[in-house]
Amino acid sequence: MRIGVLTSGGDCPGMNPCIRSIVRFGIYKGLEVMGIRRGYAGLIDNDIIQMNAGSVSGIIYKGGTILKTARSKYFMEKDGQKKAVENIRKSRIDALIVIGGDGSLRGANVLSKVWKIPVVGVPSTIDNDIWGTDFSIGFFTAVSTALEAIDKIRDTATSHERLFLIEVMGRTCGAIALWSGVAGGAEDILIPEKHTDLDEICDRLEEGRKRGKVSSIIIVAEGNKSGSVFEIASRISKKINYESRVVVLGHLQRGGSPCAWDRVLGTMLGKAAVDALFKGESNVMVGFVNGKIKVSSLENVLNNEKQADLDLYSLNEIMAT
Ligand code: ATP
Repeated sequence: MRIGVLTSGGDCPGMNPCIRSIVRFGIYKGLEVMGIRRGYAGLIDNDIIQMNAGSVSGIIYKGGTILKTARSKYFMEKDGQKKAVENIRKSRIDALIVIGGDGSLRGANVLSKVWKIPVVGVPSTIDNDIWGTDFSIGFFTAVSTALEAIDKIRDTATSHERLFLIEVMGRTCGAIALWSGVAGGAEDILIPEKHTDLDEICDRLEEGRKRGKVSSIIIVAEGNKSGSVFEIASRISKKINYESRVVVLGHLQRGGSPCAWDRVLGTMLGKAAVDALFKGESNVMVGFVNGKIKVSSLENVLNNEKQADLDLYSLNEIMAT
């Protein structure tokens, strides 16, 4: 059996340990492993290379992806998909493992459902917005990176007695904001999944100042519903006369050496994906739920929304008092 592996969509820390696991476990199981470079775009361009145990040596600690990644509009069209499938057949690839986020898994579903290519998906995105896994690969490294920045900004916020608003990534999901906010002792967290009244934030900041708080940090998820981080900062500053500064962390959060957990998760999910293909499963995603590997149909993964951990949100409100 010959399998192919590709990384698609946004890069994230932990993709390399996952590729390494697929290649090494695949070879251990007697499979041939082909690497497809630049995601679905590479599949369309026939950018396919043979992998061996040596081609993944020295990558476990590296961020990004050695296979490169891309977003391909052409793959969204039937013509592009047809070309990709022709190349899969030409390279005699029997089954495919797709490492990526929500969009990449939608592509995997199309390949499997419409074009009958056996495909297993691996959830890999810093946003942690994929149903069917407690954590996606890359999430905890992104949280750690955000936290490092929050801790540094706290020093300045305290020294200057200022309010800092820090925007973190996550698109429509507030997971990075929630986890980095709780870990960084944020005074408030704005997430897309919960409406937060800016007047209430102002009241809480005022109360904090009266109690002697010398600095405040608000974590703002990029997809929050109260407006841009700059608008929010200006409204709060004007209302309660609190000098504020804004920091947008941006793409900093996508890179860097994967943390221990993302290396282990990448290794476990890579092995699980090979296992699933070996058992003849297709159109599924491997995930990590309640401490165990769980295989879910891509149909379920794509039709369910991951819920935000609102208990964590409430807990932070108590901690910030
Ligand atoms: P991240 O969450 O890090 O942004 P992602 O996998 O969600 O990663 P996308 O840009 O949404 O990133 O998707 C990656 C690629 O998957 C797209 O460029 C496209 O080629 C393919 N894709 C996305 N949605 C579909 C779809 N509905 N049908 C076919 N292919 C798709």
